[in-house]
Amino acid sequence: MQVGSIRFPAMDSSNGIGVEVYFAGCRREPKCKGCHNPELWDMEAGTRYSPRALAETIDLIGDGVKQTLVLLGGEPLHQPELPEFLALARTAVDCIWLYTSYELEQVPESVRCLVDFIKTGSYMEDLRVEDKWLASENQKVWRKTEDGQWRTFYSTDHGYMY
Ligand code: SF4
Repeated sequence: MQVGSIRFPAMDSSNGIGVEVYFAGCRREPKCKGCHNPELWDMEAGTRYSPRALAETIDLIGDGVKQTLVLLGGEPLHQPELPEFLALARTAVDCIWLYTSYELEQVPESVRCLVDFIKTGSYMEDLRVEDKWLASENQKVWRKTEDGQWRTFYSTDHGYMY
């Protein structure tokens, strides 16, 4: 897996104290106009981690206190080893957020089953907003319920929805 940076503590990208992992690599074409992280487009940028090494690194952050893990990019879904990493990381953190440019139904079940929140939707410069979690109005945050259903958790139209 290619990692551009790991940041801790991060207070603004989740509903907890987050460990942020910025994956390097985005194969979307065309790229989103006004992309906030073009330095992370290159699939070979950053530092190579095996899924296990990255999960162990996350586990060591925060002095043993379980954190919220936040996955950003680049496009995290373009990391082929993401499901393997998520399965390992689940034991190290309480909660996992995924920031993706894809819509909810495009996120593979192998990923959906291992995360708790998903920010969906590509960045649209014409719909840009100043918001805690969302960069443009078309984006949403989804939360998985205890029975495995996904419900809209937050949008710029409605704020918190439950
Ligand atoms: S998907 Fe993300 S990294 Fe890729 S172009 Fe769009 S905003 Fe940039």
